[in-house]
Amino acid sequence: MSKQQRAKLVVGNWKMHGRLAANATLLQAVAQGSGELPADVRVGVCVPGVYLAQTQALLEGSRVEWGVQDVSAFTHGAYTGEVAAPMVTDFGAMLAIVGHSERRAYHRESAELVAVKTQRALEAGLTPIVCVGETLEEREAGSTEQVVGAQLDEVLAKLSAQEAARLVVAYEPVWAIGTGKSATAEQAQAVHAFLRARLAAKGAADVPLLYGGSVKPENAEELFRQPDIDGGLIGGASLKDQDFLAICRAAAVTSVAG
Ligand code: PEP
Repeated sequence: MSKQQRAKLVVGNWKMHGRLAANATLLQAVAQGSGELPADVRVGVCVPGVYLAQTQALLEGSRVEWGVQDVSAFTHGAYTGEVAAPMVTDFGAMLAIVGHSERRAYHRESAELVAVKTQRALEAGLTPIVCVGETLEEREAGSTEQVVGAQLDEVLAKLSAQEAARLVVAYEPVWAIGTGKSATAEQAQAVHAFLRARLAAKGAADVPLLYGGSVKPENAEELFRQPDIDGGLIGGASLKDQDFLAICRAAAVTSVAG
C-alpha cells in the first residue's frame, strides 16, 4: 500500500491528566470536531483507566476511538494495582499504548515486558500502540537505529505476521517528549523509513507509523506530509481541544481525501 492509501491516525495521550468535569468538556469537543474530518482520518484518545466508563459514555456513536495508556502483562490474578486488557475491552476500548518511554523509564519496563503486554493487548482485541524511541545520549552516540530497532524487534519476535499487521507503532524520541523540542520532519522521516523497512521484513509494511514528541498545530502538517509518517501520538496538545483538533485537521490536509 502506498502512502496515499494509508489512512491518517491522530491519538491523544492524556497521561495522568484530567478530572470528570474537564474530561466531559474535552471529550465532547473532540467528538464534535472530529465529525468534520474526512473519512480517512482516524482520531483516538488514550485516557487514564478510571475514566474509561465516562469516555465510553461520551464517545460511543462518535468516530473517536478510545483506550488506555498501559495494560498488564497478565490476564488476571493477584497483581495489585494492575489493569488487564480484557477489563479495558469491557468498556468498548479499542486502543492501548504500550512501552511509552515514561513507563520504560519510571516503571523500569523492559523490552521483553513491553512485548508481552503487546501480546496481551492483541489477544484481547485491542490495537496496541507500541512506542519506541531513543534518548538524547543515544542519538548523539549515533545509535538511534540500533535502539529503536531492538525495541521493535523484541515485540515482532513474539508475533506472527498477521498479529504484527494489527499493530500501530509510534516513534517517540525521548528528548522530544514534553520538551517543546520536536524532531525535525527530516529526522522523524528517516527513523520512520527505517522502522517501515523492519515492519516490511516481517510482512507488516502497512502498519500505521505515528510520530510523537512535542507535536503542535504549528509543526503537525510538515511532519504528517512525510511519506512514512501516518499521523501522531499527541501528549500535551491533546489536552486542549482546539490544539488537538487543529492537529487532526493537519492530518486531514495531508490525507488523500483532504
Ligand atoms: C507523549 O507523551 O506521548 C507525547 C508525545 O508527549 P508530548 O506531545 O507532550 O511531547
